[in-house]
Amino acid sequence: MLPFLQYCKQKTKFILLKITGTNYVLGHKLWAKNFPKPTEEIRTKFLIVGGGISGLSACRYLKKNNETDFLMVEMENHLGGNASNGENKFSKFPLGAHYLPIPNKEDVELIDFLKDCKIYLGDDENGLPILDDEQLTFPKEERLFFKNEWQNDLVPQNGISNSTKEEISEFFKLMDEFRIKKDASGKYWFDIPVSSSSDEARDLDKITFLDWLINNHFKSQELLWLLDYSCKDDYGLGLKYVSAWAGIHYFAGRKNNWATNRHDQVFTWPEGNARLAKHLSKFVENKHLKNHLVFDVNSGKENVEVLVFDNQSKTSKKIIAEKVLFATPQFVNQHIFKNRKFKDFNYVPWLLATLTLKNEFGGAEELAWDNVIFGTEGLGYINDQHQNLNQIVGEKVITYYRSFSTDNCKKARRKLYNLNEEELKNIVLADLKIAHPEIEDFIIDIQFHKLGHGMISPVPDFIFGKEKKLAIQNIDDKIFFAHTDLSGISIFEEAFHQGIRAGKEMIGI
Ligand SMILES: Cc1cc2nc3c(=O)[nH]c(=O)nc-3n(C[C@H](O)[C@H](O)[C@H](O)COP(=O)(O)OP(=O)(O)OC[C@H]3O[C@@H](n4cnc5c(N)ncnc54)[C@H](O)[C@@H]3O)c2cc1C
Repeated sequence: MLPFLQYCKQKTKFILLKITGTNYVLGHKLWAKNFPKPTEEIRTKFLIVGGGISGLSACRYLKKNNETDFLMVEMENHLGGNASNGENKFSKFPLGAHYLPIPNKEDVELIDFLKDCKIYLGDDENGLPILDDEQLTFPKEERLFFKNEWQNDLVPQNGISNSTKEEISEFFKLMDEFRIKKDASGKYWFDIPVSSSSDEARDLDKITFLDWLINNHFKSQELLWLLDYSCKDDYGLGLKYVSAWAGIHYFAGRKNNWATNRHDQVFTWPEGNARLAKHLSKFVENKHLKNHLVFDVNSGKENVEVLVFDNQSKTSKKIIAEKVLFATPQFVNQHIFKNRKFKDFNYVPWLLATLTLKNEFGGAEELAWDNVIFGTEGLGYINDQHQNLNQIVGEKVITYYRSFSTDNCKKARRKLYNLNEEELKNIVLADLKIAHPEIEDFIIDIQFHKLGHGMISPVPDFIFGKEKKLAIQNIDDKIFFAHTDLSGISIFEEAFHQGIRAGKEMIGI
């Protein structure tokens, strides 16, 4: 984290503004590679590089399969990667991923993990899963600010024409058909993990979602907004950039076939998916080094040698392992490996802003967990205290999400890194003021969190493309790869399965 503070004078009051982000200053040292010579040697059977969900899931898999000789290294001062969190006096809050949808019944490995975490508690007499209510979104789950009023649900309902209503219902009918569609071998067209999907629908990966919608005569402004919002929610990119396969997968990948009585709920916690990262972190207790940046790798006959920079002691170490898993994104790997350049891996930048607001914010109106504002650039905000069991008597804490949907992520990233506190504040408030014109009077502080390489971009020809297939292949059965960018879709489930797949490959199962 790189916090720096600035007091910004505004009318007669101060708003405390603070910027954090991933440690990109340390990360960018990979470009220059000006590291000291190693002065220490460590040996391990399996080395896991990267403590995000993919790496943690791989360690869980190893441990569950009686492989205990492993070590994880993570460049940040905490585990979790994009599933990390912050905390202030009033609440925990996510610094990235904040929810997990209910898994498909076919996803037995994820269901098993939820059982481990006491989120899934067993089955009732009808065979339906009993889920821990406190870890599922409490009512009211979501609301949309549309035509100057809040309405329940994110699908625009009040004040839309009959033809729009028909289009919306036609679209969801089509998604219901895609949801159950299978190929002759029994594989779903759209599945989670993506690797379980049939490739029968791969032609849908060749065009953009917008082109597909136009070809299918969907044109209502409200529907197109909803679909654009949905794509940004999971991919950071809007419907004119993502492939039709990715756009449809958002709706058809999740089958609603396990906890069928819990349709509209998702698993969430004040700290977001950092809760799940914490569950997984148990498997690396006393088996990980934080503040350790991997900067070089050499594969020998017997072993793999990995060079690591310890950002606390400012020394380098050599780790010798039989097998190494890189649970790191490919934009990082291309600076660690000599010949590992991929041109199709592009990442969307994200901005998060956590606002502490005086308790009176919102007046009598009850915030939902997810609060979305129609027609804005951002994705709205989460009420971080929604899952609190106690009455909120102190200040309110909300987290605003904004992705930079563009065909030039590099430029958007540079721009994001250069924005100062005042500029960031203006971006965030321009959106929030549409629904809350008086919000500025209630703000006590804002923490901005910049994620330069937030999510992989599933643009046409990426998910079924050649590069992704190449990038996932191990090297000489000694060096392995696992990350959500290798799925093409940045969601918890993909990271979780990336870890399991790589764990199996490493053990040789
Ligand atoms: C703003 C945002 C919101 C999101 N919201 C959701 C959500 O609500 N639900 C959801 O399911 N998913 C969400 N996601 C997607 C999320 O990224 C994935 O769910 C998942 O957490 C990714 O895990 P990962 O392990 O694949 O990658 P990462 O989280 O990227 O993990 C990679 C790890 O490697 C470390 N690392 C990198 N380079 C090095 C190096 N050289 N040496 C050592 N360590 C290194 C990193 O610090 C990091 O910890 C969101 C993502 C973003 C950006």
